[in-house]
Amino acid sequence: MGVITVKRPARAYPPTVLPAYSDSVAAARALAHARDRARWLAEAPPGPVEAPDCDRGAARSLIDGHLTAHPDGGWLDPLSTADLLAAYGLPLTTSVWARDEDAVVGAANALGRLGHDGKVALKAYWPGQVHKSALGAVRTGLGGEADVRSVYREFTERFGPQLAGAVVQPMAAPGVELLAGVVQDRVFGPLVVLGAGGTAADVLADRSARLAPLSERDLTTMVTDLRSAPLLTGHAGAPAVDLAALRSVLARLSRLADDFPELVEADLNPVILRPDGALCVDARVRLERRPSFDPYLRRLRRPSAAEGERTP
Ligand code: ADP
Ligand code: MG
Repeated sequence: MGVITVKRPARAYPPTVLPAYSDSVAAARALAHARDRARWLAEAPPGPVEAPDCDRGAARSLIDGHLTAHPDGGWLDPLSTADLLAAYGLPLTTSVWARDEDAVVGAANALGRLGHDGKVALKAYWPGQVHKSALGAVRTGLGGEADVRSVYREFTERFGPQLAGAVVQPMAAPGVELLAGVVQDRVFGPLVVLGAGGTAADVLADRSARLAPLSERDLTTMVTDLRSAPLLTGHAGAPAVDLAALRSVLARLSRLADDFPELVEADLNPVILRPDGALCVDARVRLERRPSFDPYLRRLRRPSAAEGERTP
């Protein structure tokens, strides 16, 4: 492509740059891109998606409470994670954090009734853990009390004094495992991520991401951008998953990340998608004190002292 500079007669305007192509195919392609962009710009400007019934006050006090107790921030424990996600209507499965063997067995007896095939999942817990299943800290499909008791005993032997109990959950019915999450980028602000999930998420590396706040269009293109999109929209006779439930998860994450710059990392992996809904069975949330960043104003928006926040 060459460039021709055209001097305009009106002195008030800077010289206009016109692209010139020696190849007509390249010129036609460029014209098509210009047309697509013009159409895109002509569409109604996308407003942020709605996420009804988010309890911002409850989330604010939980986040402030955690950052007061842990000024350097860190990962939320299982109880606070469940409370924060519940405040924003994010569908985490029932998760009981039981601190000793008898409490684990009691929780498993109670939750088994809710589980797929009457079974529960048991996850060893200690603060700051990552990739539990790679360490043998996740056991799924447990049936009777004896199994639960012996798995918890294995956990206590394997993980020693760092073990701070276990999280007991009903087994979720199988479906398509996705990851949905948030990271706060220091330059661009909150980014919402969707991808193929489960324990093979890193290997598959099938992800799409958009800056929050998300628009309705973002919700659509985040899904269609995935290589695994056909698994969600119905493939080889399998029914489509509940895309409205998936959109709601993304919209709520977007709202949460936009409301709280302190939420520096949230990782819902997996969110299990089925034709009748979406259910997250593993969530991690990390907080840090941060001023919020407004990419439009290109400056740091410092939270007011009245809100009880301080800047780093
Ligand atoms: P981690 O990601 O830390 O290894 P997870 O809690 O995500 O641990 O568990 C690993 C895998 O076990 C999940 O991807 C999912 O396939 C399965 N799993 C975990 N909890 C449940 C549950 N409650 N119901 C069904 N499957 C589960
Ligand atoms: Mg996980």
